Amino acid sequence: MRKTCSRCLGEGKIANTDDGEPWSAWATLPPGSDLAVRMGFVRPIDCPDCEGHGSVAVEPKPLTAREQLDAYAAKSMPSHTDTGVDDTAGTYFPEVFTALRAVLDLHADDAGDCRECGVDAHEEPIPWPCKTVTAITTALEDS
Ligand SMILES: [Zn+2]
Ligand SMILES: [Zn+2]
Repeated sequence: MRKTCSRCLGEGKIANTDDGEPWSAWATLPPGSDLAVRMGFVRPIDCPDCEGHGSVAVEPKPLTAREQLDAYAAKSMPSHTDTGVDDTAGTYFPEVFTALRAVLDLHADDAGDCRECGVDAHEEPIPWPCKTVTAITTALEDS
């Protein structure tokens, strides 16, 4: 995923000034005010943030355990794309995925704590993701 570079406003070029304005700020100066540009003092350079591409890569959000499980379930499906109809979604080992989904739904994120695990011996809330959720996500990541 990519988003428009905020430094050069998607143009890929900034001015070679101390502030490094987007090049459009200089390129659109009215005649008479653009002397520095016409004299060659101010020139466009490749934007260092996006290396001249105008857009920067956005780190995708880490998947939740449920999303990982669904992704894994989808990966495990036999491909029926040749028929144009995917009627197998969720039907491959359905009990296994239903069981895991049920566990993940129980061990849900409750404002940073695990609702199901409750509190430890010192009455401290168990932080989420708890060991149960971590065990499932780790297994899915290794798959
Ligand atoms: Zn840029
Ligand atoms: Zn838990």
